[in-house]
Amino acid sequence: MYKAAIIGFGGMGKWHFRAIKGRFEELDVTGAYDIRPEANEEARAESLRVYNSAEEIFADPNIDVVIIATPNDSHKDYILGALAANKHVVCEKPVVLSSEDLVEVMEAEKHSQGLFTIHQNRRWDKDFQTAKTIIETDAIGRPYFVESRVNGSSVFLHGWRDYKVNGGGMLYDWGVHLIDQCLLLNPGKVTSVTAHLFQVHAQEVDDNVKVLLGFEDGLSVLLEVATNCFIPMPRWHVSGANGTAIIQNWDCEGRIVQLADDKALKWENDIVYTAAGPTRTMAPRPVNTTVQKELPQIKDALGDEYHRHSSANIFYRNLIAAIKGEEELHVKSEQALRVLRIIELAFQSAEEGRGIACSI
Ligand code: NAD
Repeated sequence: MYKAAIIGFGGMGKWHFRAIKGRFEELDVTGAYDIRPEANEEARAESLRVYNSAEEIFADPNIDVVIIATPNDSHKDYILGALAANKHVVCEKPVVLSSEDLVEVMEAEKHSQGLFTIHQNRRWDKDFQTAKTIIETDAIGRPYFVESRVNGSSVFLHGWRDYKVNGGGMLYDWGVHLIDQCLLLNPGKVTSVTAHLFQVHAQEVDDNVKVLLGFEDGLSVLLEVATNCFIPMPRWHVSGANGTAIIQNWDCEGRIVQLADDKALKWENDIVYTAAGPTRTMAPRPVNTTVQKELPQIKDALGDEYHRHSSANIFYRNLIAAIKGEEELHVKSEQALRVLRIIELAFQSAEEGRGIACSI
């Protein structure tokens, strides 16, 4: 049985605890450390051993896995400490705040006997996997524009997320997930990054993010994170050469509309007179030249119906198998490095008010 200790027993620390506790034969959480006494009390109430410091965890030979779920700015030192003690490390996203810091962590990873992975759990979200399936099964032809949005209206950012020093802001928050997903949709290189970052209510950080990524094969992806949007757009809108798919929400309501056949590509459009005047290009297509389909019904990566522990099952089973040398880790630091490089260019793009060419 591998034993894990959690650093940071707040929202996500407790999520990891509940996702693991009693759910894996070969992994258990036995300890925790938090800087807040109340959080330590909560850990104690769960019968966890509460450590006096992270260093005490690193020095404990009974601990095999260290899970880091603290605010973003504190990840790096904890990762380095845990790797130096040859622990296996699971760190929350964003792994660290710069690519330079991640390169330093990757150097430490090379010299450690511990494995190092990042909790990019949204790779296994049903909505993302549905969008990926639509693209991979060629359901709408060659995709040329993908829109991926999370539109909330919480308006205020919670706690440390509101502060620059903690690595707050939505680009480091949901932005990391959306970019990570996007890099799995297209195997090619990212060749341009253009970002508009808004501070609608936040004082120090971005609370509304628009990032446009260009890929070498011509695909463009628009990523949006909003905390000030009161009429949400669909979670996914995917435009392909022969059809369009919409995934409205995390429950995966939506549909696909495809061209009925090759002949349907060309049709004789008459000029129409709309409330906005005459148009031929925007004339509505005859309904019989398209087919409407349901979204693909998919199972999770373990072949189960999606459930609330799907991502944790996949993530932690993989970690256990990787520790035993049976599988490669699903989430690797090189992948997180690409995400951080894109984030850095997004900050630069927003600052300089221009798109940035790259090869990432
Ligand atoms: P939170 O504020 O709810 O919890 C953070 C905890 O860390 C608090 O209990 C706090 O007291 C403790 N803490 C703060 N500084 C510390 C330090 N230096 N050492 C030890 N403990 C410290 O925050 P959260 O929402 O749980 O976020 C924690 C991490 O998890 C962040 O990196 C965040 O980006 C990530 N997160 C990931 C997901 C996901 O889906 N993967 C979701 C939410 C948050």
